[in-house]
Amino acid sequence: MRWSKTFIPTLKETPAEAEILSHKLLLRAGIVRKLTGGLYTFLPIGLRVLKRIEGVIREEMNAAGGLEVLMPALHPPEIWQQSGRYETARDVLYKARDRANKEWVLSPTAEEVVTTLAAGEISSYRQMPLNFYQISVKFRDEIRPRFGLMRAKEFIMKDAYSFDGSDEGAMASYQRMFNAYQRIFNRCGLKNFPVEADTGVIGGSHSHEFMVPAETGENDVVYCESGKYAANIEKATSAGPVNPTPITETALAPEKFPTPGAVTIANLVAAPYNVPACQQIKTLVFMVKSAATDQTQPVIVLVRGDDELNEAKFAGLIGTTIFRPATAEEIFSFLGAHPGSLGAVASTLAAEGKKWTVLADEALRGGKGMVTGANADGFHIRHIDIPRDIAVSQWGDLRTVKAGELCLATGKPLKIQRAIEVGHVFKLGTKYSEKLNARFLDAEGKSKPCVMGCYGIGVTRTLQAIIEQCNDKDGIIWPVAVAPYVVCLTPLSIAPGSAVMETAEKIYKELTEAGIEVIIDDRDERPGVKFKDADLIGFPIRVGIGEKSLSKGEVELKPRGGTLQLVKTEDAVGQILAAIKAKSA
Ligand code: ATP
Ligand code: MG
Repeated sequence: MRWSKTFIPTLKETPAEAEILSHKLLLRAGIVRKLTGGLYTFLPIGLRVLKRIEGVIREEMNAAGGLEVLMPALHPPEIWQQSGRYETARDVLYKARDRANKEWVLSPTAEEVVTTLAAGEISSYRQMPLNFYQISVKFRDEIRPRFGLMRAKEFIMKDAYSFDGSDEGAMASYQRMFNAYQRIFNRCGLKNFPVEADTGVIGGSHSHEFMVPAETGENDVVYCESGKYAANIEKATSAGPVNPTPITETALAPEKFPTPGAVTIANLVAAPYNVPACQQIKTLVFMVKSAATDQTQPVIVLVRGDDELNEAKFAGLIGTTIFRPATAEEIFSFLGAHPGSLGAVASTLAAEGKKWTVLADEALRGGKGMVTGANADGFHIRHIDIPRDIAVSQWGDLRTVKAGELCLATGKPLKIQRAIEVGHVFKLGTKYSEKLNARFLDAEGKSKPCVMGCYGIGVTRTLQAIIEQCNDKDGIIWPVAVAPYVVCLTPLSIAPGSAVMETAEKIYKELTEAGIEVIIDDRDERPGVKFKDADLIGFPIRVGIGEKSLSKGEVELKPRGGTLQLVKTEDAVGQILAAIKAKSA
């Protein structure tokens, strides 16, 4: 490709809208341009990278037995109603209306469509395993689209769906995808690692996210340095808080005491109360919609004063994602007090004779001498003996793990690292096949639902994650496998017929014949401008061809991020190929 014939609008200045480095580089290197928040146009260089990442994904998906298909992006809402996600995923669904005012859903993912396909096509166990995948546009009405392609309203996803006749088969499919994902991200040049992921309402233990360590990531990963444990913080467990919950053996009865103005854990930690946070009970109230009865009920959740409720774990325990924090008015009407003075001591709840659902975190189990709100504004209660005074309906792991807690697998302290989620593999089981009737006859002629898995890669997010990880002060450093062009030839004068241009053209021709993607910077620009642009865009190899070195029979070979070498003109192509090989290793 001739630089003058393509379109690479590099920017010297960093656009103010970009908060993180990779977003700045996306714009500065002329990879994308914003239409409006969360919506981007891929320019020629960006599209080339995207296609190369897709190429890697395709090769590995095909090698793992995936069959590429292309499903509609416009979905009838009926299938979303059938799966139940018209309700549970409503926040992210973009909807459109047609001329007859009928509603349509813009695909955020495609379990409903692929399961409908399977329902029509799969009838016998003999047809499985099957794995359909596609690489296509997805739409999500994100609360906070940001960081460029990282969290967009519209993005490219590779989504795959496996269908098996048995649980063992589904596990084998899962493992094949897991392995393929490791190869894909490694080939893309990304440092990445799989972590155990939240399985939410579907449950089960087979879900992993592929994470790219980065401070700008939106996930916290809890891991043990031994390499034996890593999990998304939404799912992570530990041996429990470092400081145990106090068990003060006293026979003292619960005692209400005035705490005017003390409405936070910290207020009670401070003088004159001096109650350590680990001795306090934090009381939260949620409005939960029951899937069975369709009714919304308040649920009280208790965690230790120094702990945070983990909403993913809470959703897992109650079996639904349809909940929200109760409003202050709702809370007052239920408990007779405002947030800051709430508690679940049975004697303070009894007023209306209501049967409360009280969920409590395991870390509170057995706590004695605890302090909590009295359900009366400006009052708390002390000497609480949890087993004696609080009627817990259900115990569970509801707290968020903190760094330094001990790993259940190794006993070593856990660490926490920010990371970008680029991929997700999930054993779904029969949730969708049951709801959408994807059934088959087994070897005995019995009708059974297909056992499914789903597997996603954020292709556009992966592109940006590579930039986030592979860069230096001068710009991007593309791994060879995904580079827009692998070699950038930079003739320092562009006079047609000059020795410089002739040499550049000859190397261009030979490299192209060797199957290498080359761009030749034939712009009438100063060398400094050309070098800066090449570094900013991040071509893995740059070859400078100037009169001075050429008169000595040499050209300059500069691997991006490496040191400049002078090579004999006649050896140039061989040396460039060797440098590419070295960089690809
Ligand atoms: P997140 O927690 O980041 O919102 P998710 O759990 O909703 O991700 P999945 O539904 O598993 O994501 O989608 C599969 C992949 O699609 C993710 O691993 C991620 O790489 C990508 N992805 C999801 N949402 C977006 C988005 N808004 N913009 C870009 N990529 C996305
Ligand atoms: Mg999401």
